Amino acid sequence: MGGTEQKYIQEAFDTNWIAPLGANVDGFEQELATYVNAKAASATSSGTGAIHLALDILGVQAGDTVFCSTLTFIASANPILYLGATPVFIDSEESTWNMSPQALGRALNKAKENDTLPKAVIIVNLYGQCARMDELMAICNEYDVPIIEDAAESLGSLYKGKYSGTFGKLGIYSFNGNKIITTSGGGMLVSEDEQLITHSRFLATQARDAAKHYQHSVVGYNYRMSNVVAGIGRGQLEVLDQRITQKREIFNRYEKAFSSVDGIMMMPELEGTFSNRWLSTMTLNTEKVKITPYELIDLLAKANIEARPVWKPLHMQPLFAECDFYPHSEDQIVSEELFANGICLPSDTKMTIEEQQKVIDVILTAI
Ligand SMILES: *Cc1c(COP(=O)(O)O)cnc(C)c1O
Repeated sequence: MGGTEQKYIQEAFDTNWIAPLGANVDGFEQELATYVNAKAASATSSGTGAIHLALDILGVQAGDTVFCSTLTFIASANPILYLGATPVFIDSEESTWNMSPQALGRALNKAKENDTLPKAVIIVNLYGQCARMDELMAICNEYDVPIIEDAAESLGSLYKGKYSGTFGKLGIYSFNGNKIITTSGGGMLVSEDEQLITHSRFLATQARDAAKHYQHSVVGYNYRMSNVVAGIGRGQLEVLDQRITQKREIFNRYEKAFSSVDGIMMMPELEGTFSNRWLSTMTLNTEKVKITPYELIDLLAKANIEARPVWKPLHMQPLFAECDFYPHSEDQIVSEELFANGICLPSDTKMTIEEQQKVIDVILTAI
């Protein structure tokens, strides 16, 4: 926590606006929209809920197709299944680890031929790194398919001076406990189109029609953020820039320590972008370092240090075994290479320099 969160929570208690909404929800929405330069924002009970709402707003229904980055957390794609639609997974490319414009182009071309163009493309910005938005948006515009930007991990990151999450028709953020700022649990939907955000608030509060009695014409959800939780978010937003600075310092210390090791590659930062470095991640070239990521993760665990593999691509998940997948090229599947060679390192802002040095020492000794 940053320090002022309890002040906002106290205000909620003092005014007895514990639920359903209240000044903290309004304030958090406005303050976040101002921070990322978005026209409108609506606070939700989770990032997953925000993706579900975004898909519903764009008219995704049973039988539809939705394209999604393959190298991501399962929450990017689960809401596609909630609506009875079918995901198609798109591979990564090396300069961002995010969606490959090449693979997306082939997938959309094929879909057009088969008359099965997707209702939306979910573009994920992994570990804080922005995807190649110029190329991806040009392709989506060509086929007139809207983008949902999953910026759950990239709040505060910039692509050519514009905030991650504000490129698509709709963007989502997450304030889950593990994200760069947290409300304990929560999310946000943002858009340049105020009507879409107004509609999302309607859907997120059980889709109640304008009548004195309770009347409902479409399926709704219970996805709004509580006024107590939003108070935590307001306090956290005040320390977001500080968190980004700390996260980048952690990344830079790893990068410097490993710069002389042939065979360790830190996650790249595409030219013209600024990553919040939510997680410090790297890949090993196992021919050069003679140790696999799993062996290194085990060695770190023996020293009481938790490290993890990179996300297992969704097209490799048993849940999605039947889904279509478009690789980066005919002879290269970038997401599978990243999964095989990648490691997420301890990146918590509470970690001391001494603790980080211990992580570095264990890795350098192992290698
Ligand atoms: C955390 C996360 C989500 C889901 O957010 P929740 O608030 O946990 O529901 C979605 N996508 C990505 C990429 C995430 O990392």
